[in-house]
Formats: sequence, C-alpha cells, structure tokens
Amino acid sequence: MIKCVECSANACEGDINRTPQFCPRRHARDGLDRAQQIRTTDQQVLKVAEVAESVAKDGYRRWPRVMELMEFAKRMGFRRLGVAFCAGLKEETRALCRILESQGFEVVSVACTVEGGCNPVGQAMVLNQAGTELNIVVGLCMGHDILFSKFSEAPLTTLVVKDRVTGHNTVAPLVCGYWRKALMKSDVGS
Ligand code: SF4
Repeated sequence: MIKCVECSANACEGDINRTPQFCPRRHARDGLDRAQQIRTTDQQVLKVAEVAESVAKDGYRRWPRVMELMEFAKRMGFRRLGVAFCAGLKEETRALCRILESQGFEVVSVACTVEGGCNPVGQAMVLNQAGTELNIVVGLCMGHDILFSKFSEAPLTTLVVKDRVTGHNTVAPLVCGYWRKALMKSDVGS
C-alpha cells in the first residue's frame, strides 16, 4: 500500500533508490508519467498552476483564504462566479457575496434548498446555466458536496467545509487530543 504519510525519506524528487518501498514513485509509474505529460502540456493546467503559485507566493501568511480566492479568480481572468451554499450559512454567504461584488465580480448564488431540501445537483445545474467560470462551495453537507462537484461544469473551490460541531474548523478534531482519542478505534497508531 502506498503510504506517503509514513515517509521520512524526503526523496519525492531525484534518486528513486532513496525512496521507501511504499513510495508511489515505485508503484504508480504509469499514473505519474501521465501526470507529468499533462502538467507540462495542458494549457489550462499550466495556467492554473502558475496562478496558484503566484497567489501562494504573494499572499503567504498575509492573505486569508477568501483573499486568496479573489486574487486567484482575478488573475485567472474570471468575472462571473457561482456560490453554492448551505441555507444554514446564509448570513456568512451574504457577506461573501457582497465582498465579491465589491471587488467587481458578478456573483450568482444558489441555496441548497432550491426546489426542495438539499438539491446539490440542482445547484450545479443553475450555475451551469448561468455560465459561471468558477464555483465556490460554502458549507455543503458531506456527500452533497460530492454531488455538486460531480455536476458542476465550472471548476470549483471550497471556501467553507461544513462541520456543525467545530464551527466549520474541520482540522480541530485531528489536532485536539480529546477528539483524536475519541475517534480512534483502538490505541494502535496513537
Ligand atoms: S513520494 Fe515517496 S519519497 Fe515522497 S513522501 Fe511519498 S513515499 Fe516519501
């Protein structure tokens, strides 16, 4: 099984002989060769990668994610943005949309409740029909986010991951000792 997470070799590039037995460089050669071909020839991939790198560099430790999102969209040349949001996060989404509009974006927002409770496929279709260039996910439920991503024609990015227990801070249970202990099925690996 491939397990980068257990690696301390620090050999993601260069000499393959320094990699551990579970390294994907040893076991996923076809996939990595295909990736190399795509990321060096596909113009859209090249553009996204270039813009992502410039945003990460310019905003490093200074810009919150929402700022990174806006800079990314601007540098990509996106003008019309879609926001697929959970109705339970309407206030936060309204703040987001007003910020986006103040920065010159056209914003199409659609609630999960469109034509009936929890309709992520409907959200995707509405944004597809509106011709959005980038879709932003705000707090869609676990699973509904998968359906939205399956049917969204525009590339999408998630700004808020819903977590009703932690104030949408999904990493908290991974770093908090109490939660880590509670979530572990046994002491193995702890
Ligand atoms: S790619 Fe290979 S060397 Fe890099 S972290 Fe994964 S296992 Fe380690």
